[in-house]
Amino acid sequence: MHSIIELTRQRDLDALEYSLVATVAELLPVSSISLRRTAPDCQHADELEEILRIEVRKVANGKPTFACRQEQAMVPLDQEVKDCIEHRQTRVCRQPQGLFRTLLPIYAESQFMGVLEVVSHEDLTASTELLEALVKIYSNHLIIIHESERDKLTGLLNRRTFEKKLLRLLSVQKENKALSQRTGGSKERRACSSSSQAWLAMLDIDHFKHINDTYGHLYGDEVILMLSQKMKQVFREGDLLFRFGGEEFLVVLEPVPLEDAHHALDRFRKAMADHVFPQIGKVTVSIGFAGITANDFPQTIVEYADKALYFAKDHGRNCCYNYETLVAEGKLEAAQESGSIDLF
Ligand code: GH3
Ligand code: MG
Ligand code: MG
Repeated sequence: MHSIIELTRQRDLDALEYSLVATVAELLPVSSISLRRTAPDCQHADELEEILRIEVRKVANGKPTFACRQEQAMVPLDQEVKDCIEHRQTRVCRQPQGLFRTLLPIYAESQFMGVLEVVSHEDLTASTELLEALVKIYSNHLIIIHESERDKLTGLLNRRTFEKKLLRLLSVQKENKALSQRTGGSKERRACSSSSQAWLAMLDIDHFKHINDTYGHLYGDEVILMLSQKMKQVFREGDLLFRFGGEEFLVVLEPVPLEDAHHALDRFRKAMADHVFPQIGKVTVSIGFAGITANDFPQTIVEYADKALYFAKDHGRNCCYNYETLVAEGKLEAAQESGSIDLF
């Protein structure tokens, strides 16, 4: 029961997922459980991301002990999983060596979200109602969490989630770096070599006050909405898009070389500049961006991007600048090392 209480209390997604899997392991005689989710914002999945796997080692005094794996791996969909998704129904499948595989589809507001796989020595057909109820609690929480992370007008991630998402990205970067050092010379090492890194861009609409003052706030809001739709079109699925403030936006770009980051951001800048709004005409954005390094605090990276953005505002607007390049060219002064200490 303890784990069900935990399951209904969770606000954080990772903890919620752990609670779901741990609850199943505690309530039923299972040998392993795997929670697989669609990649974020992915419509048609041929593979799912295994985000959590628990192997139940042994049961002592009615309490199972777990081996929990939380590194995320892509898993292709086999026919049994495909059937479960297609029919939106729990399936109990017999496996070799006397095992049973119970598959439960996860839907949130009719959107397919993933699959829970339970492997057991016993046939769990009699427990499918219980399993379905737990999956339902989980998917209801997914909806609540999803809404709490999003901005209402644009559907982009909101400012509150920014630090959490960036810290997670930084910790993944640190892990990858440690891994590539351990497995020196591997392909992965080349893939995340020094030339590729994640980037944080700050975007701000130019002369937005003027739009509000001249046409009214409703027109202003329409510009914000249209800009957010263009962001979703132009940037990649793996990039994180935030509405950071009223008419300020952040983009976290997946690891790419500097030139590619500049190119992607400038493509967005140009897409905005080329768009003609029926009444307002043209609206432009200025962009500043900085590299995301595992050693910086989120606040510091935002400051760097902000400095580059204000350089763009001072140099004609409707343009895009990189912080590190500006510093290297002597156009911006490098921030003091102690800058990040302000946080404490
Ligand atoms: P700059 O080119 O220097 O960025 O000029 P600006 O006029 O855009 O200046 P600034 O960024 O300081 O102004 C932002 C204005 O955006 C202030 C506020 O009236 C307006 N604003 C902020 N949030 C919203 C919103 O949600 N909706 C609307 N319609 N306006 C907003
Ligand atoms: Mg602003
Ligand atoms: Mg502005």
